[in-house]
Amino acid sequence: MIIFGTKGYLYQLAILTLVCGQCGNPSAHTLRKRVTKFTLFFVPLFPISTKYGTQCTFCGAEQKVTKEQAEQLQAQGGQGGQDGQSGQGYGQPQQRPYQG
Ligand SMILES: [Zn+2]
Repeated sequence: MIIFGTKGYLYQLAILTLVCGQCGNPSAHTLRKRVTKFTLFFVPLFPISTKYGTQCTFCGAEQKVTKEQAEQLQAQGGQGGQDGQSGQGYGQPQQRPYQG
């Protein structure tokens, strides 16, 4: 029996100050990447889909952006340009421990 499926990963790429299209406030937006990976026997093998979006921290509205837009936004919002974890648990793959 072969068990396969997909697993979603959510990465926070940057925090940007943008004027929200929903609430109109110049508020902090998170730039996020959602990667869906193909899994076989619960082991993620390769990404099958990568999507980008921003979310307003004020009203919670999400907006999809293209990869190109995301890269531009990340370049604008990158302070220091260092990849790193902010220590808040963001950037961690969302996965539940699997016990076989
Ligand atoms: Zn908003």
